[in-house]
Amino acid sequence: MGPNSVTVRRGKKDNTRKTRDYESIIGLEVHAQLLTRAKIFCGCSAAFGGEPNTHTCPVCTGQPGSLPVLNVKAVEFAIKMALACHCAISLLSLFARKNYFYPDLPKGYQISQYEYPLAKDGYLEITANGQGKRIGIIRIHMEEDAGKLVHEGTFESSASSLVDFNRTGVPLIEIVSGPDIRSPQEAGLYLRSLRDILRYLEICDGDMEKGSFRCDANVSVRPQGQRDFGTRTELKNMNSFRHVEKALEYEIKRQIALLETGEEVVQETRLWDEERERTLPMRGKEEAHDYRYFPDPDLVPLEVSKAWIEEIRDTLPELPAEKKERFVRQYGIPEYDAAILTASQSLANYYEECVKLCGEAKTVSNWMMGDLLRELKKDDREIEECPVPPKHLASMVKMVKDGVISGKIAKTVFEEMYRSGIAPEKIVQEKGLIQLTDVAKIQRIIQGVLEKNPKLVENYQKGKEQLLGFFVGQVMRATKGKANPKLVNELLKKSLSKG
Ligand SMILES: [Zn+2]
Repeated sequence: MGPNSVTVRRGKKDNTRKTRDYESIIGLEVHAQLLTRAKIFCGCSAAFGGEPNTHTCPVCTGQPGSLPVLNVKAVEFAIKMALACHCAISLLSLFARKNYFYPDLPKGYQISQYEYPLAKDGYLEITANGQGKRIGIIRIHMEEDAGKLVHEGTFESSASSLVDFNRTGVPLIEIVSGPDIRSPQEAGLYLRSLRDILRYLEICDGDMEKGSFRCDANVSVRPQGQRDFGTRTELKNMNSFRHVEKALEYEIKRQIALLETGEEVVQETRLWDEERERTLPMRGKEEAHDYRYFPDPDLVPLEVSKAWIEEIRDTLPELPAEKKERFVRQYGIPEYDAAILTASQSLANYYEECVKLCGEAKTVSNWMMGDLLRELKKDDREIEECPVPPKHLASMVKMVKDGVISGKIAKTVFEEMYRSGIAPEKIVQEKGLIQLTDVAKIQRIIQGVLEKNPKLVENYQKGKEQLLGFFVGQVMRATKGKANPKLVNELLKKSLSKG
């Protein structure tokens, strides 16, 4: 049984049939809001929030006679993402009208792309269970966002609903994966990876809670070994990575249970109910022909020149996967560490800045992966808000390397740095934490310890060498942990052998 398959035991009534193994098939549709200043077809602000209906004009509210004009920055951003996902960019693509009625859609249709999307046939690489895997990207197309309905109270009990058109016409890209994802965990990895790339490109803030990064999931199951796909359902309303994984887990189990009892999976759209942790039917699944797609007569075909594509390609930053590989190669750190340190551009920059200052790649990685990220997580802070600047962490690492403070004391120094934002040199000086390396001084302390324990000294000299640990401990205690342990060891051995 593969790690991604799910086994369901049959009930007592029917235990004659063999339990089957199932495989889940997942495809994801991700909507990412592009960080352009203006909306996709008008000059209104695309900023999040604002007083309701203040970022509006005749174009985005669908007034008669108004005409859309495509925002070239949105196209550039979409091409960036398409290139980062190894897609083929279409030199000619078309905007189409997707017709449906909903109160948050003032035109009665959404401008999207249908038969001729901007980009297709790409892929994204994820690492699942230590192995690289390619998830196909069928297409990336551009479209406009709809507005937002605000219900007074809950949807069911609300006496009225208000509509805010500020979001209407904000540029989106839709990234459609192939049916290549085989488990909720893989789905989570794929989504995080997509979001990391969008953030590296600085074209989307990737905020799932604000809705600027949204995901719908198509999921079906089939018995292991069956070639045909089973009937799929579409899941909506998942606004965190955790919820996507949970919703998929639930839905896979639900579908398997249906098949095992001889029932059928109904093709439909289901909502994730976060409170009750289950999926609920929302509506029958629409087919593309329900939307009566046709090319938008108000917009000319979108032509993209090869030269412009190359120009955009030249502006792409080093992407997470390349950076990770370079970190492993250049700094000799494990792939796991490199993946975490390159999850965001800022975290990677922080690491490289520290290494540049102190030259200790592995030690810096250990401090960041351990104490630093743990503290940040505890306080729900991003690396940008870290009270310890790279300069301070680098100085502290250097102080340990140069023997100014011991590794043990460094823990105390780090805590203090994180709490107060004070430079490590100052903390060490003010708190008198400098490592004791004065030979004469340590020698005097050793002498004191030996004189207090003549019997044990005698035993040691008779061959009970394991007593050395005891003496080291006594000396360290007398120096409040500040003595250099290596030096203490050496000096003790010398003193004891003299007799
Ligand atoms: Zn507008």
